[in-house]
Amino acid sequence: MIYPTRRLLLAAAVLALPRPSLAQGAAKVVVVGGGFGGATAARALKQGGLDVTLVEANPTYVSCPFSNEVIAGLQPMEAQRFGYGGLAKAGIRVVHATATGIDATARRVALADGTVLPYDRLVLSPGIDLRFDAIPGYDEAAADAMPHAWKAGVQTELLKRQLDAMPDGGTVVMSVPGNPYRCPPGPYERASLIAHVLKTRKPRAKLIVLDAKDAFSKQRLFQQAWRQLYPDQLAYVPLASGGQVTGVDPAGMTVRTDFEEYKADVACIIPPQRAGRIAVAAGVADRSGWCPIDPVNFESALVPGIHVIGDAAIAGAMPKSAFSANAQAKVCALAVIDLLAGRAPETPKLVNTCYSLVAPGYGISVAGVYRPANGVLTDVDGAGGVSPLDAPAALREQEAVYAADWYRTITGQVFG
Ligand code: FAD
Repeated sequence: MIYPTRRLLLAAAVLALPRPSLAQGAAKVVVVGGGFGGATAARALKQGGLDVTLVEANPTYVSCPFSNEVIAGLQPMEAQRFGYGGLAKAGIRVVHATATGIDATARRVALADGTVLPYDRLVLSPGIDLRFDAIPGYDEAAADAMPHAWKAGVQTELLKRQLDAMPDGGTVVMSVPGNPYRCPPGPYERASLIAHVLKTRKPRAKLIVLDAKDAFSKQRLFQQAWRQLYPDQLAYVPLASGGQVTGVDPAGMTVRTDFEEYKADVACIIPPQRAGRIAVAAGVADRSGWCPIDPVNFESALVPGIHVIGDAAIAGAMPKSAFSANAQAKVCALAVIDLLAGRAPETPKLVNTCYSLVAPGYGISVAGVYRPANGVLTDVDGAGGVSPLDAPAALREQEAVYAADWYRTITGQVFG
């Protein structure tokens, strides 16, 4: 007996779907989550002539990229905030409400205010939730004393205030989770910029970075820069030397590992993460807490008709970044337009670049190109790469300019 492939089943399912036509009106797509992934997808779907509703819990988006610079006093918080007026002007129906449930059989999204939105296809880009059950002692209340600042907003401002108020000679303790998590180089950029604050404003203070792993993104570049710029400020403790945090006490401001107990004046605890909770409600998250997808069209491997993009998705070799979410959103939107028109989506190639600032005027980057292979997104051999080691200061300066240009461009395209 010959079993139909998943692609044939998909094609058959597409045949049975209502198609966009003048008589019926455009097909309805609901996008949940108005961050880098969702807002990009909504725009691209609208450009494809579909009827698009974007459901976003907050009236203002607060961007994580460049929030480490806010913590270090190098960027105003205002530069992180974006409204949804540009998306509304583009003809997207923007609904500010929390999506609370998804009926994948009836193809309906339920909102907290009781509204029910029907869809032909659903795109989820809910970002992450922090796992407040992962580190003993680190629950939601503990984050008021020991901010994670891994969702930008009040947490970013809290960590900045704590750092500013810390006396010279104080100790900052930072913890970094194991993979996978949002923005692989982000904790090391944060460590660098906190070290910059200490070096320039509190020269007797120290930063201890406790890492739950031994290897990390742009490691040699970061560590070279730390040796050059922050030898007296930053101590890095990898997993092999006891970097895994086993518990915290927010009242006593202590951070424990199997080897030692650290007393902190400021503690930034970045806990493990999972896909935003609506992914669980929709049934698209697996036991890992993340969402398996078809890498050609970002359709959930678990629930047909729902596509998952951005941090929430298991995107193989692609890191969880705003750049990735933006690229995935465009590929996913084109695939949804194709599927609704009864066409098979083309096999995509996706690109990501992540810039990190190690100090003002000192930027480094990593870039990759990805394509679907054997059901997952894999690196295209020979494409991409990282900034060179031992580069002249002029190149680092240029990369810092590229980073700022990238931020202006992507936020302008997505929210402008
Ligand atoms: P998000 O941008 O988090 O958007 C999710 C949206 O969904 C949110 O607005 C949320 O309110 C909404 N939402 C969630 N659930 C619901 C619901 N049930 N109903 C309605 N709305 C809902 N990436 C880079 O590319 N470059 C960088 O330099 C960079 N720097 C970073 C620095 C830091 C410190 C951090 C923490 C991250 C950084 N990132 C960077 C990563 C980047 O922020 C994320 O990868 C990106 O935001 C992922 O986009 P997303 O759409 O998946 O999720």
